[in-house]
Amino acid sequence: MKELEINSMKIEDFAIFDFDIPFAKWNIDSLKDNSYVKVHSEIHRVKNRFIAKNDIVFTLQLECSRCLRHFEKDVAEHIDVYFENKRNLSSYDTDYKDIDSAIYEYSGSIIDLTQMVYDTIITSIPMKPLCSPDCKGIKLKDKDIDIKLAL
Ligand SMILES: [Zn+2]
Repeated sequence: MKELEINSMKIEDFAIFDFDIPFAKWNIDSLKDNSYVKVHSEIHRVKNRFIAKNDIVFTLQLECSRCLRHFEKDVAEHIDVYFENKRNLSSYDTDYKDIDSAIYEYSGSIIDLTQMVYDTIITSIPMKPLCSPDCKGIKLKDKDIDIKLAL
């Protein structure tokens, strides 16, 4: 998205960028209504590729997989990634074989952080959310159980 595009020509050595992007822009159900995704990005130029060190802060709204209660979870992720110009694709394999960090492409002079932030949010959403580590689940009162047995 336009808001997360950076003109790499402006990065001489390194530069810092801050963005607040409203939840509605992301189309991710688990983001809390009326919240913002905060992106703090420190981008270093290394020849014609870039290393981006990012802090991404946001709030999820989740449903506990045991007790079905809705709850919010504040998330702060730190992620380092590379941005590689599309023209240099052929040198990928040899250059990056020992590197764990994700590699994103950019074309022209525009680095777009959107996909990287999106991936970070999506991978932070738990498969089985728990409102607390020791959630006991739905508690049935003895009375409720009696009614069920009577039926
Ligand atoms: Zn729960």
